[in-house]
Amino acid sequence: MLTLEKLCAGYGRLQVVHDLDLTVGEGELVALVGANGAGKTTTLRAIGCLIRRTSGTTTFLGDRIDRLRPHEVTRRGLVHVPEGRQLFGPLTVEENLRLGAWTRPSYDLKRVHKLFPVLKERGRQAAETLSGGQQQMLAIGRALMSRPRLLMLDEPSTGLSPELTRNVLDAVKAVCDTGVSVLLVEQNAHQALSIADRAYVLESGVAALHGRGRELAEDPRVRKAYLGL
Ligand code: ATP
Repeated sequence: MLTLEKLCAGYGRLQVVHDLDLTVGEGELVALVGANGAGKTTTLRAIGCLIRRTSGTTTFLGDRIDRLRPHEVTRRGLVHVPEGRQLFGPLTVEENLRLGAWTRPSYDLKRVHKLFPVLKERGRQAAETLSGGQQQMLAIGRALMSRPRLLMLDEPSTGLSPELTRNVLDAVKAVCDTGVSVLLVEQNAHQALSIADRAYVLESGVAALHGRGRELAEDPRVRKAYLGL
């Protein structure tokens, strides 16, 4: 569904991502883990065309997308939820959800409410009055309103307790189980690997390791470097 071939990207003369090969299959949950500054966010920005790649290709559903504008990438069904959620705080939960449907007319509030019942219960409440975990669910729910084929989530656990992180990642898994593919960037390698079908470990912009989520969680190099074990 999504294929990166030898993707290179960075900022000005700073090259951050080097010759990255990565795939996400239909219905797959793929995690991208690695230390601070490894280039995870930069990879998502390059896929979403928020920054220009310097070389390499990105293919989505059979078409090259690496020369598109960000909104064109979104319109094709590849939706990016950046770190920090970017909700409209004073607007209600439901208004935020409806804004997610602007790229396509087919919004589906019921489907989102089924996945995240709390967003229904709190539909009339201002988004800024939700807890951190609920706000993250709203950011994901808003992205789902445009019926994406693939969601890219950047650190959905930022600022959340381990318990809330678990809840949010369980919700991510539930989203994937509805048939939406997911590319998940997480610093919390342990929890991300436990839900991922496959994962890539990024080190200084290079995919140092890749494999099935649970296998990587058992790999001694990963356990030492990222899981503190
Ligand atoms: P984190 O988990 O800390 O967010 P990350 O793996 O997502 O890390 P990136 O945010 O992709 O890493 O950053 C990779 C490198 O790119 C870092 O050295 C960072 O300083 C640099 N960088 C990130 N954003 C910019 C920018 N807008 N301009 C210049 N350099 C940047």
